[in-house]
This record gives sequence, C-alpha cells and structure tokens, in this order.
Amino acid sequence: MLILGGTAEASALARLLAGESWVAPVLSFAGRTVSPVLPPIPSRVGGFGGVDGLAAYLARERVEALIDATHPFAHQISINAERAAEVASVPRLVLQRPPWIAGPGDSWHSVPSVAAAAAALGEAPQRVFLTIGRQDLLPFQAAAHHFYLIRSVDPPDPALLPPRAEILTGRGPFTEDHDRALMERHGIGVLVTKNSGGAEGKLRAARALGLPVIMVARRPAPTGETVTEPEAALAWLRAHAETRPTPDDRGA
Ligand code: NAP
Repeated sequence: MLILGGTAEASALARLLAGESWVAPVLSFAGRTVSPVLPPIPSRVGGFGGVDGLAAYLARERVEALIDATHPFAHQISINAERAAEVASVPRLVLQRPPWIAGPGDSWHSVPSVAAAAAALGEAPQRVFLTIGRQDLLPFQAAAHHFYLIRSVDPPDPALLPPRAEILTGRGPFTEDHDRALMERHGIGVLVTKNSGGAEGKLRAARALGLPVIMVARRPAPTGETVTEPEAALAWLRAHAETRPTPDDRGA
C-alpha cells in the first residue's frame, strides 16, 4: 500500500503500521522539507510525474490500497491521486484532519487565498505573525509596509521575503503559552494562517490576546471516502486486506 504523506497524520499512520506483517506500506514525501522526520516504514521521496506517473507507480509496485494523507492545502497531489487511483483501479481513502472552526471570542476574517490575505492586511502598517509555510510568501512583497514575523519548518528562500521580515524556524506543534509569549514579545497585531487544522496553540493565543486572525480558507476537500483519524485509516486498510482477492480469485 502507498501513503501520500507530508503530514503528522501520515506519519502517525506509518507508526501504526510499523511491524504489521499483513501489509507492506510505503510512505511518500514530496521532498519539500530539508530534514523530514524519517518514518519507521519504507519511504520514498519526490514527485511521481503527474497522474500518469502515479498511475504507473501504482501498477508497477502492485499497490492494492492508496491513502491520500497529504496536507489540506496540497491540492494538486490530491487531484492526481484521485485520477491515478481510477486509472489503476486502486481503492483510495482520504485521511485529512478537520478544519478549525471559529468559536466564541475569535475574531476571524476568512479569505480565499494567500494573495487575498496579503491584501486584507490593509493600508495601515501592522506587525504580522505569518504562519503559512515557506512556499507562499511572495504575495506579501506587495504589502511591504507591514512587519512580518515568519515561522516555518525550514528557512524560506530570501527572494520570496517581504523587506521587513524576521524568520523563526521550528517544527510544531507549539503550545498556547509559547505562542502567546512569542506574540507579546514581538508586539504582534494580527495572525495570518491557513486553515490547516490540527494543533490550535496559535489560535488560542490570538484569542487570549484579543488579536484578529486572517484565515486562508481551504479549497473543496478531495472527493471520496474520507476519515480524519489515522486509526480509522488503519481500520479501512484492515477491512480491505480481509476482503482482497486471493491468488485463486485473480486466476493465478
Ligand atoms: P501540491 O501542490 O499538491 O503538489 C505538487 C506536486 O508535488 C505534485 O504534483 C507531486 O508531483 C508532488 N507531491 C506532492 N505531495 C507528494 C507526496 N506526498 N509524494 C510525492 N510527490 C508529491 O503539494 P504542495 O502544496 O507543494 O505540498 C507538498 C507536500 O508538502 C505534500 O506532500 C503535502 O502533504 C506537504 N505539506 C504541504 C503543505 C501546504 O500548505 N501546501 C503544508 C504542510 C505539508 P508529481 O506531479 O510529479 O507527482
């Protein structure tokens, strides 16, 4: 089976599958992170070459189940997974964490894209805590009158940075106390983030400090059977393993 990863959920599923003799899993990374945390199961790194490349991989490796556990904002690979699974007739499950939902005390402004988030910061200079990863920073060069505290796992490409930026590298999850202290120390006035779901430390901190949040909304989720927890993906895999055709059924 193949897990398309790059998320905490994919890594958690890999840990659940480690040592299980009824399944031969491979975890696939795009290769964006400089030092990914290596999983306790076999892994591979790099793109497949679009739908055709992924479909060819599924056929060549005789993959019998595909789990799309990619990030909610990794849109292209999920489209590719859906199409390739159809072409190769491989059962596919989406493992995706639920989005965050604003609660009492939250002051969210939802926007459809990172570019819209940059525009939503407005004319008056602000001190911005920017936690959208390191790939999508370019639109903030068009809002150069703000100061940005940018947090990402690996350092961003300097060519993408707005002129007034400070970089913090680190791998989450971060606690509410940690992020509250960080935002206070840097005099942050607004948080910009993607609705990734998962650990809520920075959102709780923003709520506690009474700060507004510009939230980049998700695009429509991948279609097909979907679960939100690695344990549910494991149950799906077990059910598939129990009903898979025997060599006799396949005419071998
Ligand atoms: P994307 O735009 O959906 O995918 C671009 C291309 O990267 C895909 O067409 C595919 O190349 C390759 N790719 C993506 N995920 C892959 C995987 N797990 N294994 C092998 N190839 C993969 O993806 P992205 O937004 O750049 O994200 C890249 C990776 O980072 C994803 O695995 C995602 O789970 C992880 N991630 C993304 C975000 C985010 O905010 N976007 C945040 C955290 C983690 P080919 O067409 O050549 O196969």
